Amino acid sequence: MINLKELEVWFVTGSQHLYGEETLNQVAQHSQQIAAALDGSAQIPVKVVFKPTVKTTEEIYAICQEANQAKSCIGIIAWMHTFSPAKMWIGGLKILQKPLLHLHTQFNRDIPWATIDMDFMNLNQSAHGDREFGFMVSRMRLNRKVVVGHFQDGEVHAGIGSWARAAAGWNDWQGAKFVRFGDNMRFVAVTEGDKVEAEMKFGFSVNTYGIGDLVQVINQTSDAAINQLIQEYNDTYTLAESLRKGGAQFSSLKEAAKIEIGLRTFLQQGNFKGFSDTFEDLHGMAQLPGIAAQRLMAQGYGFAGEGDWKTAALVRAMKTMGSGLPGGNAFMEDYTYHFDPANPLVLGSHMLEVDPSLANGKPTCEVHPLGIGGKADPVRLVFNVAGGPALNASLVDMGNRFRLLVNEVEAVAPEHDLPNLPVARVLWKPLPNMKTGCAAWIYAGGAHHTCFSQNLSSETLQDFADMAGIECITIDADTKLRQLRNELRWSEAAYRQF
Ligand code: MN
Repeated sequence: MINLKELEVWFVTGSQHLYGEETLNQVAQHSQQIAAALDGSAQIPVKVVFKPTVKTTEEIYAICQEANQAKSCIGIIAWMHTFSPAKMWIGGLKILQKPLLHLHTQFNRDIPWATIDMDFMNLNQSAHGDREFGFMVSRMRLNRKVVVGHFQDGEVHAGIGSWARAAAGWNDWQGAKFVRFGDNMRFVAVTEGDKVEAEMKFGFSVNTYGIGDLVQVINQTSDAAINQLIQEYNDTYTLAESLRKGGAQFSSLKEAAKIEIGLRTFLQQGNFKGFSDTFEDLHGMAQLPGIAAQRLMAQGYGFAGEGDWKTAALVRAMKTMGSGLPGGNAFMEDYTYHFDPANPLVLGSHMLEVDPSLANGKPTCEVHPLGIGGKADPVRLVFNVAGGPALNASLVDMGNRFRLLVNEVEAVAPEHDLPNLPVARVLWKPLPNMKTGCAAWIYAGGAHHTCFSQNLSSETLQDFADMAGIECITIDADTKLRQLRNELRWSEAAYRQF
């Protein structure tokens, strides 16, 4: 959906004039080599751009200002090859609005035991130069990611790659627009939230449009466009008998295609990156958008049902972060449980809108009645999802702050046919185990709506939360309930100051 190679992170090396021209030339050469190595790493999805060494307060301020202005720059990697007295960094760090990664590395991997002298020591002193920089970032209470290791170490590349993906998601949110058709599902709590605070904190806006505005666009759809899309459905999915041309419900498929085209047009015209709707407010629409929402998600739009704009925005950000990786990021809901003690499972789904970017194999396109909403039977794609490591992430508004909650899970390929279940579905086992994982989620106030990811790590989501300056709670193989409950209590105190 988004080519992350169009985005840049800037590699900035700090030093000072104390060492003389010769040393500074070496610093520049080494920095270029490191930047080039990172740029060439398959694990780092964005461009890494070398920037000239900064040696004064003014140069540091200027590069931070330039980074703020540059649209393609999504973050800065800072490294102190020599020693860069950190009071010089105060002004720059104060204005820096892009995410920061502190790479605590060294040009040489090994100490050259036989030849090491004081010249070598003067050049290769990041072991203490980086500590001076680290102090200042901590002293200023700024969030950043610290990655430690030799610059050719694969784990270092993975750490930078994880952060770069988070930075791409963060960058995508800045100025992003999401549309909410209608309001929140009546009486539902967790899908609500402070949209003003969200815009201040996250940089995206959510605004409402009447469903009538959308219906007007849907009704302008031409028959030619509808026929073309039906051909695409035909080519891409296994159509149920009744939905084929001449079938009893072919008109439902036409209606679904019309809704999809109208929705896409509306989103394109408003330059929206995602949307939410609610089945309680669909005046003028024949069906609930099923296949339309599904296909728009697969094409990169954020979506969540029932007015849940927070999850819609999170789905969009996570799709951006996962760009180029195999697997998908998708709107999900914990639906029902299999409480067999020998094989406990969560079945995740939604009433219609499960993203086919998760599909394992060719989806079938079906039409079935929907018990709620009081509309005509909606068309939807039905499929299963492959097993493997995955996670669920949820963004909740705790009243005094936003909390990002992440649960690592093991997805499981279905062992049984579900012939009577007319929706797409996923099966997974929460980590560390079913009971602890579910209890931890409930204690943390996690929503029933999530973004299910097959390709992002909890590290990337932690990096993302740090960029936003919000709390991140991770439930993984190491989670112990007592410790997690304490973490929640302590976070309550930690975030009270803000
Ligand atoms: Mn729901």
